[in-house]
Amino acid sequence: MADKNHEMWNALGMDLETHDQLCAVLPTAFGDVFLTQDNIPAGMDYFYTVAGDIHGLRPAELIEAQKAGKKVFGTFCVFVPDEIVIAADGIVTGLCGGSQFWVPEGETVLPINTCPLIKASLGARIGKTCPFFRIADIYVGETTCDGKKKAYEILGEDVPMHIMQLPHSKRPKDMENWKDEIEEFAARVEEVTGKKITIEKLNEAIKVINGKRKALSRLYDCRKEKCVPISGRDVLLIMQIAFFDDPQRLSQVVNELCDELEERIRNNVSVVNEDAPRIMLTGTPLAVPNWKLHNIIESSGAIVVCEENCTGTRYFTHSVREDNKTLDEAYAALTDRYMTNINCACFTPNPGRVEDIIRLAKEYHVDGVIDLNLKFCSLYDTEGYFVERELKKAGIPVLGLETDYTDNDAEQLRTRIGAFLEMIREK
Ligand code: SF4
Ligand code: SF4
Repeated sequence: MADKNHEMWNALGMDLETHDQLCAVLPTAFGDVFLTQDNIPAGMDYFYTVAGDIHGLRPAELIEAQKAGKKVFGTFCVFVPDEIVIAADGIVTGLCGGSQFWVPEGETVLPINTCPLIKASLGARIGKTCPFFRIADIYVGETTCDGKKKAYEILGEDVPMHIMQLPHSKRPKDMENWKDEIEEFAARVEEVTGKKITIEKLNEAIKVINGKRKALSRLYDCRKEKCVPISGRDVLLIMQIAFFDDPQRLSQVVNELCDELEERIRNNVSVVNEDAPRIMLTGTPLAVPNWKLHNIIESSGAIVVCEENCTGTRYFTHSVREDNKTLDEAYAALTDRYMTNINCACFTPNPGRVEDIIRLAKEYHVDGVIDLNLKFCSLYDTEGYFVERELKKAGIPVLGLETDYTDNDAEQLRTRIGAFLEMIREK
C-alpha cells in the first residue's frame, strides 16, 4: 500500500521527501490522541481506517473518479453549497489545513500574523505536501475574512479559483446578492464539469446533503444524554472526515455508529464518569489534524459534548428545503439555508451566534464553555467579547483561550484548563 501511495503522490507532483516527514509523525500523533482511549465504539473502525491512510484512501478514489470524467472542487468554508457541485456530478473535498507542519511554508508568502489555518492551507499547496491540494481541479474561495480573501489571490496564481462574494450582513438585499452568487457559482460549476444542472439533479443533491446533515445531527443528539457514549475526540475526527468523504457513504457509517451509540445509551454505557465536567467549545474551526484542545480537555478528566464551530454544529444544522419546483426556488432554498442559518463571526451584527451558543449550552447540559480562538483571527477574537459577556450573564462558566497549531503552549493550556475544570467541579 505504501508503495502504491508513493506512486500516486509522485504522479501528483508532490514533494515526496518532505511529505515522508509528515507521514512519519502522523501515526504517532494519531495513536497518542485516539488509541489511548478506553471503550472506543466499534463503529469508529471505519473512521480510524480512513484517518490511518488519510493521504491514500480517499485521494485514490478521487483520482479514479477523475479518470471517469468527474471534476473535484476544493473548498475552504461551510458557505460553499456542496449541492450545486453534486448536482453537476462533481465531487467536493474540504481543503483547510490543520497542521503546524504546513505553517512555515505558508509563512514564506503570507504575513506571520495570519491565522494558522490560512497559513497551513497555503503551505500545503505551495509545499506540495498534501494530495488533496494537488488533486482538486478548481478551488472555491469565499470572501469571509480578510486573511482568506488575500490568500486566495495568491493561490489564484497557481490554481484555477472561483470566489464567492459573501455579504457581511443578512438584510434582504444581502440575501438577494447571495442568491446571485449561488447562481453564478452554478454557472461556473456547469462550465467546469460540462454538465447541466437540472431541477431533478439539484433536488436529488439536496436530499444527499440533507441526509448527511441528519446523520451528523443524530450523532450530536447522542451527546446530549447524561450517559455520553462517545468521546469528543472521536466526534471531531468524524466531522473532519465528513469534509472530504463520499457523502452517502459517510451518512451510512455515521447512522450505523449511531445505532451502536443509542444502544449504549439504553444500556448506560458511557465513555466517562458521570461527574466528568461537560464542556462545549465555541469559536474557530478545527481542521484535520488539529486535535490539540480536545485531547487536552479530555485527558484532563472532562468530556467535550458539543462544538459550536464550523467543524461542529455550524456544518450540519438546518436542512435545505426539498422537492423544489424550479431551479429558482431551489437556489432560494439554498440561499436561506446557507445565509440565514450560518452564524460565522464575519457577519455584522451577528446576534444569532450568541443565541446559538446559549441555546446549545442548555441543550447539551454543559458545565462550562471554552471560547477558542486561533491566533491572529481578529473576527472570533473580537466577537469573544459578546460571547463571554452573555455566557457570564446566563451563569455559564466560560474560559477564553487563544492558541495556534504548535505544541509550545500545551502545558500552559493544560494548566489553565485544569484550573477551569477545578472551578467547575467546586461550583
Ligand atoms: S468560521 Fe467562517 S470563514 Fe471559517 S469556515 Fe466557518 S463560516 Fe467559513
Ligand atoms: S479562523 Fe478566522 S482568520 Fe482564520 S480563516 Fe477562519 S475566520 Fe479567517
